[in-house]
Amino acid sequence: MESLFGNYEPVSTSQVSNFADVILPVPIPRMFTYSIPREFLPSIQIGSRVIVQFGKKKILTGIIGKVHSNPPQAYDAKHILDLLDEQPSVNPMQIQFWGWMAEYYCCDLGEVMHAALPSGLRLSSESKIQLNPSFDPESSKYPLDVREEKILEALENAKELGYDDCEKILETRTIHPILKSLVTKEAILIFEKVQEKYSPKEVTKIRLVPALASNRDELQTLFETLADKPKQESVLLKYLREVPVLSIPESNDAGLDKASLLAEGDSESSLKTLIKNGVFESFKELVNRIEEVKADAKTIVLSEEQERGLNEIKGHFEDKQSVLLQGITGSGKTEVYVKLIQEVIESGSQALLLLPEIALTTQIVSRLKQVFGSKMGVYHSKYSDNERVEVWNGVIQGRFPFVVGVRSALFLPFDSLGLIIVDEEHEASYKQFDPAPRFQARDSAIMLAYFHQAKTLLGSATPSFESYTNARSGKYGHVVLDKRYGEAKLPMYHLSSLTDDKRKNLLKLDTTRLLREKIQAALEQNEQVLIFQNRRGYAPYIQCESCGWTGQCVQCDVSLTFHQFSNELKCHYCGYKEGTPSTCPTCGSGELKMMGMGTEQIEENLGLLFPEARIGRMDLDTTRSKHGYQRILEEFAYGHLDVLVGTQMITKGLDFERVTVVGVWDGDRILNFPDFRSGERAFQQITQVAGRAGRSAKRGEVIIQTRKADEPIYQQIIKGDFDEFYLQEMHERKQFFYPPYVKLVKITTRHQDYKTTEQAARYLHQQMATLAIKKIVLGPEKALIGKIKNKYQFESLIKLDRSGATQSFFKMELRRILNEIKINSPYKAVRFIIDVDPN
Ligand code: ADP
Ligand code: ZN
Ligand code: ZN
Repeated sequence: MESLFGNYEPVSTSQVSNFADVILPVPIPRMFTYSIPREFLPSIQIGSRVIVQFGKKKILTGIIGKVHSNPPQAYDAKHILDLLDEQPSVNPMQIQFWGWMAEYYCCDLGEVMHAALPSGLRLSSESKIQLNPSFDPESSKYPLDVREEKILEALENAKELGYDDCEKILETRTIHPILKSLVTKEAILIFEKVQEKYSPKEVTKIRLVPALASNRDELQTLFETLADKPKQESVLLKYLREVPVLSIPESNDAGLDKASLLAEGDSESSLKTLIKNGVFESFKELVNRIEEVKADAKTIVLSEEQERGLNEIKGHFEDKQSVLLQGITGSGKTEVYVKLIQEVIESGSQALLLLPEIALTTQIVSRLKQVFGSKMGVYHSKYSDNERVEVWNGVIQGRFPFVVGVRSALFLPFDSLGLIIVDEEHEASYKQFDPAPRFQARDSAIMLAYFHQAKTLLGSATPSFESYTNARSGKYGHVVLDKRYGEAKLPMYHLSSLTDDKRKNLLKLDTTRLLREKIQAALEQNEQVLIFQNRRGYAPYIQCESCGWTGQCVQCDVSLTFHQFSNELKCHYCGYKEGTPSTCPTCGSGELKMMGMGTEQIEENLGLLFPEARIGRMDLDTTRSKHGYQRILEEFAYGHLDVLVGTQMITKGLDFERVTVVGVWDGDRILNFPDFRSGERAFQQITQVAGRAGRSAKRGEVIIQTRKADEPIYQQIIKGDFDEFYLQEMHERKQFFYPPYVKLVKITTRHQDYKTTEQAARYLHQQMATLAIKKIVLGPEKALIGKIKNKYQFESLIKLDRSGATQSFFKMELRRILNEIKINSPYKAVRFIIDVDPN
């Protein structure tokens, strides 16, 4: 393993070192050597941000990767123009991690740097001008034009932060030398404003009147009275979304900033009315910009089962780096995490909990906030850059010994991690598709933990085959929780066979009768229902009955999905859309038929079938706005919806006690997807969505619609027999050489000309064939989606044995080949995308 990152071993600064290798955000696979001006020598360190000139014109911010005394051979080293950090922004361990990632995932260090640093830290002059009021261009050590550039850039940044004075200055972009000192004065003004922003200030806060906050029924009644007052309702909903009053009544005490309550254009007058009517009260408070959240000492007592699990995990950690916690849905894994995290941060180390993208806005985060309060940083991909920089600095300053975040939280500047937990470790969203680095966050977490000598806990009800294999072999510790917490039992399953029924309306289908009856019964009991269908839109495609024409995207090789709401045909790959034709564009026939059912159509049909029921839909189309996802969940949680139809968004981590029925619309579709992992995914998704049913006293029921009721996988899901399923699948994977038996590297060749793409892919194939290692190369073949956004795609799949040496050798050679292709071949303009361990 060492050889993979040996190149980036940190080197300490010594007196003779006067060159630095700088990591720059450019797609060139190496660092660049610059000389260190004497004045920076004492303070420059690995991880310091510096400003350098790159090429003739560009001024870039880079990170010191290495300090040494060897002048470059091939060129004269330029001077480092400026040193931005007194203390490095990035620590040596991070640089080591970046180096590993670039090598393992075959990308450039600059690309990793780009993904790792919040853009606020990448911008060169921001901190110089904002944080140093005595900044004086006259005494500055670098050339005038660089200074001007820096000042302008600082102003651009400041403008982004919302300082409108910058407007005026920026209008005169060609700044006359005489203007410069003026500009600097403005910069100081801006600095003062920034300071003001960071100092405590008095804010107006809003909270529910105590009587309401502690009484669920009153709140419910209030909601009903607000049904015809959408503006007031929206304010109330917003409040409840931010403050978990229902689960934690005490959270009301701290209230919510009035400004943030009204941030999304909710009207002030609605809030006034609510205050006048005794729903809310307002009060003043002195707060820091970084809001202090009080940790709540409410302690949870672990069940015997959880206690046993916790002890087993700790036992394994004595001699193993990683442990797989396989706990069925509802077994209470979160509370086990809480205990472990508490111990780690009490011992003075840092802890990181990774969650899949979507889970970050759900109950688990408010539960953790309740326990860890202001010690916990949240790192979300939808966060603004300021918020990210704040978490970043909070980690450096030690304010956040614990961070919960999405996969990019791995890049935070931890210096003493003790534990990384990867929740729902099987989740496909842990893999970054685009752009590079195309990393798998679970695997990278294990590597990062290794650098820190820390532990990794992987949690899932349906582990990935990779982790399960390691657990079975004893490489990882394996801990099982197979009872639900409290009264809850696992749901009862029904397979309901689908036949190909030509009638499109759900109302008339005999085959959906079972699902219909279960929904009906649930509604009568005032219970809730989830329907899972992983296709959004109204109908996946439309087809002409007489000539067979289907609507195709003009830029991609896919059919267009019909969306009834907008009456459009849309491409889900590139966003192309067109109006729905009323007659066939090819033969003129009027018999255009919708094929298949998307979430939109299911929602509509359910509405016709159960006119009394309140039906909601959660998919990409209904959750585009920043809070769209939360809003729908909130409505469901407060019982404003009876049925929720959704894509895989509804399969994850939801914990609603009134859900008793879950319908899986078309289980076969997941199973039939042409990918070696489709079985594994089907098992995971169906088990996960089924796990949303019956999480309290009443047992849940799950109805899976299928045309293949005798496929063993369905019985294995029903029995919850992951092991049997695993062994059967692994047999096939072994036979056909698939992971985890082998390692995969996928190379996509992409270009706008079909012939060129194909030839380039073949050429690459020939080059790879000459490499003297054991491997299997499949392809090149036209990709599953042969064309996206007018670019053709061919794919090659390389299967390598699992030895580190084989992989390093192959990756090194692959880089060499691609480099040669780039430099001198007819395929210079072709893009080759390397994906190591593709999903
Ligand atoms: P999982 O993540 O394993 O699916 P959760 O952590 O969501 O399960 O726990 C399921 C439910 O049980 C949650 O509502 C949680 O609050 C509750 N729960 C779990 N452990 C305890 C405990 N020790 N005491 C009280 N409630 C618990
Ligand atoms: Zn036709
Ligand atoms: Zn398209």
